[in-house]
Amino acid sequence: MAANRVARHALQSMTQAEQHALRVKYPVRRDWEVAEVRSLFEMPLLELVYAGASAHRAYFSPSQVQRCTLLSIKTGGCAEDCSYCSQSSKYKTDVKAEKLMDGADVLEAARNAKASGSTRFCMGAAWRGVSSAGKNQFNRVLDMISEIRAMDMEVCATLGMVNEEQASRLKQAGLTAYNHNIDTSEEYYPKVISTRSFQDRLQTLQAVRSAGLSVCCGGIIGMGETDDDRVSMLHTLATLPAHPESVPINALVANKGTPFEDMKPLEPISLVRMIATARIVMPASMVRLSAGRNSLGSIEQALCFLAGANSIFTGDKLLTTPNVKINEDEALFSMLGLHGKKPFGGEATQAKEWTEKSTVHIPDPERQGLGEDNEKVAARGSATL
Ligand code: SF4
Repeated sequence: MAANRVARHALQSMTQAEQHALRVKYPVRRDWEVAEVRSLFEMPLLELVYAGASAHRAYFSPSQVQRCTLLSIKTGGCAEDCSYCSQSSKYKTDVKAEKLMDGADVLEAARNAKASGSTRFCMGAAWRGVSSAGKNQFNRVLDMISEIRAMDMEVCATLGMVNEEQASRLKQAGLTAYNHNIDTSEEYYPKVISTRSFQDRLQTLQAVRSAGLSVCCGGIIGMGETDDDRVSMLHTLATLPAHPESVPINALVANKGTPFEDMKPLEPISLVRMIATARIVMPASMVRLSAGRNSLGSIEQALCFLAGANSIFTGDKLLTTPNVKINEDEALFSMLGLHGKKPFGGEATQAKEWTEKSTVHIPDPERQGLGEDNEKVAARGSATL
């Protein structure tokens, strides 16, 4: 038994020199050409997965997957017209407009999420933005953020568009990260949303970044876009002034009543390809396997983790769409030998350092203690922009 354990440990652990070599091969860089991203995306799948797995190991422990919980704190009645969303007031869906949830109920949900292993609590409000929601509602959300942050959880919010002042208030309240997805490529974007532009999205991201918040930004595939659009979306993300610390990759959930209700279901393997490419072009970011996970089998999810996904959303619902049950996730983690990731594992620190530095820096193995978690090493800015 002991010999087995030693053999397993030898296979699992990576020397600093090996990790350094991987970081040299998969550096954090923002000067990607579209053609480079495309050539990665088009690699034979197993080679791409292998490369994604290698890039993953350069910065993270591959057996750690963060569990996040997403709660819709203000559902439905949204003024935007995102063609995939059942919360838009423009479409006739099963989702009814509700008021902002009571603070006590949100806190209870956060406590339950923490008790079931989540280390990040994300709150979503179906607003065009904080300005349209009004002062009173925003203040209530700020209070929720402060109280959840005091539970020692990472707190993320997605409230639509924000300006710099609003982002700063979110930061002061204790928010860890702000989610604002670009959704798709700039070229395909007008086919998805007409009520706000791609440029509006980038402006919100800039405001979030300027306030010193961590950025959570990704997109959705399976909305009728081409492979070129998928490449273009990843290229936009990977060439932002700093990589988003968190990159959610969603598969469309074709909601009844929305313009995209008849979209053909996505081939699960497309998610694997997207995740692996995202992992390689933004190697030190958390890559989140997000909506649509409940349509994947265990083996397909395992392939996503192998390709570089290191975060999932747990809980029965993802805003208004169904998600994988918590006990199924526990069984999956146990089967794959995965562990939940502790909160504040480096992402927030990276955000600070990445905004302060602008040159690619490859870590010096001499300065890093052997046996440290990859997250700790990354947290010290070992691959900073
Ligand atoms: S995705 Fe967000 S902004 Fe778009 S309609 Fe739905 S709730 Fe509104």
